[in-house]
Amino acid sequence: MVDLQSQYLILKDQIDTSIQDVITKATFINGPQVAAFKQHLADYLNVKHVIPCGNGTDALQISLMALNLQPDDEVITVDFTFAATVEVIKLLKLTPVLIDVELDSFNMCVDALKKAITPKTKAIVPVHLFGQCANMEAILNIAKEHQLYVIEDTAQALGASYTFKDGTTKKAGTMGTIGTTSFFPSKNLGCYGDGGAIFTNDDALAHTMSGIVNHGMYQKYYYDVVGVNSRLDSIQAGILSAKLPHLNTYNKARQTAAEFYNNAFKGCKYIITPTTSSFSTHVFHQYTLRITNGKRNGLHEYLKVQGIPNAIYYPVALHTQKAYKKENVIEENFSNTNTLIKEVISLPMHTALELEQLELITNTILKYINTY
Ligand SMILES: *Cc1c(COP(=O)(O)O)cnc(C)c1O
Repeated sequence: MVDLQSQYLILKDQIDTSIQDVITKATFINGPQVAAFKQHLADYLNVKHVIPCGNGTDALQISLMALNLQPDDEVITVDFTFAATVEVIKLLKLTPVLIDVELDSFNMCVDALKKAITPKTKAIVPVHLFGQCANMEAILNIAKEHQLYVIEDTAQALGASYTFKDGTTKKAGTMGTIGTTSFFPSKNLGCYGDGGAIFTNDDALAHTMSGIVNHGMYQKYYYDVVGVNSRLDSIQAGILSAKLPHLNTYNKARQTAAEFYNNAFKGCKYIITPTTSSFSTHVFHQYTLRITNGKRNGLHEYLKVQGIPNAIYYPVALHTQKAYKKENVIEENFSNTNTLIKEVISLPMHTALELEQLELITNTILKYINTY
């Protein structure tokens, strides 16, 4: 599914030197590598503040902590995402309100969002799923109308850009109140362990969050708010600074592989290839097909037997998970998620896919679909 070696081998000298430098100088925690990466990422995203932290889940949690929400305040997010998004809402004793996604983009459904807003709603957490931005123009307009915060979960879409109707372009994660991302090794910009970051253009929120990541401490041994301990290691920051200049090239390689997949499956009756919206680029964290003839599970098994990696993101809707289940759920409100969990299958996607591999993958899938 992923290739965590190739990028390293190309940058080996630079990365080895930077790791060695941290060890030699013993700048393990909050070393100059962290400050440098902060600036590099802020420049890349064109955002005022970047706050590095321990991982993408912490990034979401710290963002929510900074908004000073009260118990039972409602936070709206999607039913079809990685559990981290909803987990942090629940962990902070806020009320997660899960809503349906769109069938074609896999992203937050704007109509469902409108219907889900109540007087208790305080924030919206759109997830830019699989590498493509949610409909941010509509989401931001709704947020403005109801005075809601917007936290963009950009763990899967770092480097994607969004074009507004007036022609303005912004990077994923820099449009809402706060954006968060993850540098988990398999993400589009991955480090060699855990890592994450938070972005915002809001000075006050940036200040608050820069203290929350460090125990709520703004002046040595004075604790103004309850914080956490969530840091990006200097070693990871150095690795990320080496890789960041190549992120656009990495994303381009993913787009090229996606194009190959798209062309190979063109016209195939039971396969829906991922759509690209008019307003967002797609950086293909995942390349996800929909198999519409009821044979998704069959294909999943067949590919496994044939030795072709594939994965089902996500096999279970969050609203049916034990941890997040609610009473009296109207299943009709989740009809798209309920369809997607039965249809989706993600194919190998990384920056070193070779033509031969792509041909083998697509030919094997077409053989199954056309035979069974
Ligand atoms: C990976 C991911 C996260 C969590 O990131 P970690 O660094 O693993 O904590 C959150 N949200 C989404 C959508 C993700 O894909």
